[in-house]
Formats: sequence, C-alpha cells, structure tokens
Amino acid sequence: MEIPENVQAVLKTLEAAGHEAWCVGGCVRDALMGRSPEDWDVTSSARPEETLALFGHRGLPTGLKHGTVTVKTEEGPVEVTTYRIDGTYRDHRRPETVAFSRSLDEDLARRDFTVNAMARNLRGELRDPFGGREDLRRGILRCVGEPDRRFQEDALRILRGLRFAATLGLGIEPGTAAAVRRNRDGLRNIAAERIQAEFFKLLPGKDAAEVLRGCPEAFGVFWPELLAMVGFRQRNRHHCFDVWEHTLHALAAAPGDLVLRCTMLLHDVGKPDSFTLDEQGVGHFYGHPAVSCDLADKMLRRLKCAAEFRETVVRLVEWHDRDIPRTDKSIRRALRILGEEDLRRLILVKRADNLGQAPAYWDRQKELDKAEEILDKLLAEDACFSLKQLALKGGDLLALGLSGPAVGKALEELLEKVIDGVLPNDREALLEHVRKNRETSGEEERI
Ligand code: ATP
Ligand code: MG
Repeated sequence: MEIPENVQAVLKTLEAAGHEAWCVGGCVRDALMGRSPEDWDVTSSARPEETLALFGHRGLPTGLKHGTVTVKTEEGPVEVTTYRIDGTYRDHRRPETVAFSRSLDEDLARRDFTVNAMARNLRGELRDPFGGREDLRRGILRCVGEPDRRFQEDALRILRGLRFAATLGLGIEPGTAAAVRRNRDGLRNIAAERIQAEFFKLLPGKDAAEVLRGCPEAFGVFWPELLAMVGFRQRNRHHCFDVWEHTLHALAAAPGDLVLRCTMLLHDVGKPDSFTLDEQGVGHFYGHPAVSCDLADKMLRRLKCAAEFRETVVRLVEWHDRDIPRTDKSIRRALRILGEEDLRRLILVKRADNLGQAPAYWDRQKELDKAEEILDKLLAEDACFSLKQLALKGGDLLALGLSGPAVGKALEELLEKVIDGVLPNDREALLEHVRKNRETSGEEERI
C-alpha cells in the first residue's frame, strides 16, 4: 500500500515528536482491496492540542470535541484524530462523551465494521485486532463487537453497513444481518440529511439491488412507500415479476449513477395505488406515472434532497412510460423540454425499465437504439431545439417594432415552427416570416 507523500509527511511529523500515528479506517480497507481511497484519515496518540502545536498555522481545530484536527497540505486536507473511546450513547446517535486514549486498539474497537477497524503505519505494519483483513478476503461485512449493541449505540451504522455491502461487494455476515433487521427502527432517530448521504452512496453501488432485495424493511423505515411494491403482482403479460422485483431488475440494469438509480427505484412506486383488474382478469396501472411522481416528490422531500436533484428524478419518473420519440421532430421536441442531458437519461431509464420486463419485450431496445441514433445525428448537425440556438434574436424583433411580452411570445412561436420543421432555422427566412405575418394580421402582438 502506497501512502501518499502528504499523508506520510503528517505521519512523520507526529512520530518525530514521539507520538504514534497510523492511517486508519476506509483508506486502509480500500487500499487492501486495490481501490484508491477517497481520503486518508490519520489516528494518533497525540492529543488535539499537541497536534495543533505541531502543525502550527496548518492545523485547524475542526472537531476538537471529538479530537479531530485538520492538517492542511498542498494536496488537500488530512484529518488527524486522537485515539478515542466513545462514552455512552444517547438517542442512538452520538456518544455523550468521548475520552481520549493512549491505545490504538481501543480506538479501533469503537469503529463500526471489522473491515473499517484496521490501521497501517509508515513502516507498513498492519494493526488488525478484529480480523478485518480475513473478513475482506472472505468478502464479509461484520460488526466490531456485538452487532445489536453497536446498532443501538448508533443506528446510522445500519445504513452504513448496507452501503458497504452494496458498494464493496461484501456479504453481510448472518449475525450482523439479523441485527440490521432487529434494530432498523433505530433509523427513525437519525436526521434525514445523514440518511440521505448514506443512502445516496448506496444506490449507485454495483450490488444495490441485491441489498434492497435482502432487507427492504430497513429502507421502509424512512420510505415505507417501497414496501407496498414488495410482492405486488402485476397480472399482465408485459411483466414476469412483481412490482418490487421488476423495480430491482430495472435498477440493476441501470448504470451506477445516482439520478438513474433513484429514478428506477421510484418509477413504479405509484403502481400499487393505481392498480385495476379488468373483466378478463388482466391487471392495469392506468396513470401510474403521475402517482409515482407525487410519491417520489414526497419521498425525496422527506430525505431533504436538493431541489434540482428532486426535480430531475421526478421528471424522469413522469416521462418514463411515454412512447419513445423516434422521429427528428419528436426528438427535437423532447430536447426542447428535457435538454440533452435529461433526454439521454430518459433513454437509459427506458432501457433499464424494459430490461426489467419479460424477455419477450426486450427487442424494444432496438427502438431505443434508433432514438439514440437520431439524437446523436441531430446534435452532430447542431439542430435547433432551444431559444439560444434560434437564428433570430429578441433584438431582431424589437427592430421590427415588436415590444414587451410580444417579443418572448414571438420567439417561442418561431422556435416551435423550427422544431416542427415548418420553418428553417435561418435568420432571413425567420425575419421574412415575421414581416409577412405582421402585414397580414396587422396586430402588434402577432408575428
Ligand atoms: P468512505 O469510503 O465513505 O470514506 P469510510 O469507511 O472511510 O468510507 P468515513 O465516514 O470516512 O467512512 O469514516 C472513516 C472511519 O471512521 C470508518 O472507516 C470507521 O472506522 C469510522 N466510522 C465512521 N463512522 C462511524 C460510525 N458511525 N460508527 C463507528 N465508526 C465509524
Ligand atoms: Mg473515509
């Protein structure tokens, strides 16, 4: 494991002053897995004030109560936390008190999972008192200590565990998995923002569908709407799965991107509420995208998602069941409303949705290939689908004597005609059209 230079320098400074200093947690785990760690955390026997004194103006007291000092380096911040024992927990959230310790093993014992409870020093020594390395080798996620107690201390660990299972390809050890189930209600005490942060790291994971399937009840604590999908039979020939299984297959078929995964998880959440059975005993879900939209909006608000993210997902949910546009005109129209990024996302959403259906319907992928082909062609030829690209500008219309809201309205109408192929996107032709229209209509606000 190659520790980055700047982190090595921090470790050396601490050791040179007589302290112990180790890389710890996620970075040790990721490096052992051959992944490149996002951040390198350091744990040390040095007290926070000693660390601050050692690093001078480069040290920032970012979390003194928990013993954390952030050391600024050229390559970015490195967090140095004093060995610590967590005191009793209140509200299943945070320890009421923390005590600093002189023992690395005590610090490792407070950590959540064995794979996160390893430390590595400058000389490459690995400290691994709970068998994290062996668990990694066997692909197992296991609590440090007694799982029920650890989840009762801090319920966020439940979601962290599910997140590590979804992203790192680890199976949850049966004792830990049973405790996840037993203690899931503790998640009610966790702030929406913290749930969102863990859950949104989980969804893009390569095994997210597997983890959702394994324990929907845990996610049902904050999103009970999901549970209505579990086992809900669709009773029509398009589907070989119940709503939840279809959702999970579709989710797994989508790329590991948060917007797409979140859209797939929510796209059919309105189905149970919109189910009807006809005389032939065939199931229908008329209007389900609108119901899904409403629910998705509520669910995302509950997790305090950023407005832009929420709106994007809700819009993709709204559009997921519409016919795939496959003509120049309809793609230009879709581009106008959605823009390139979201139209590309919609195509991926529809691909994934289709792959979650009965295999007999998978040839729909060809229709999506076609849509993508036209989209690429239109973008390559710089087709006009927005006011920005329209060859006529507001100034041109002002010069022709239009004013006020009539300008905007005229531009919108011209854009529509260009998108529909009625007019070319050519300044002269558009000017000519406006002039002619004004002569014949004689009204200021008409073009
Ligand atoms: P990531 O890849 O997301 O950074 P990570 O394991 O590094 O994963 P962090 O949130 O950065 O996660 O936490 C760093 C380390 O702190 C963890 O590896 C773990 O040892 C410890 N830790 C973090 N959160 C908790 C918690 N809620 N309970 C116990 N230990 C925790
Ligand atoms: Mg980390």
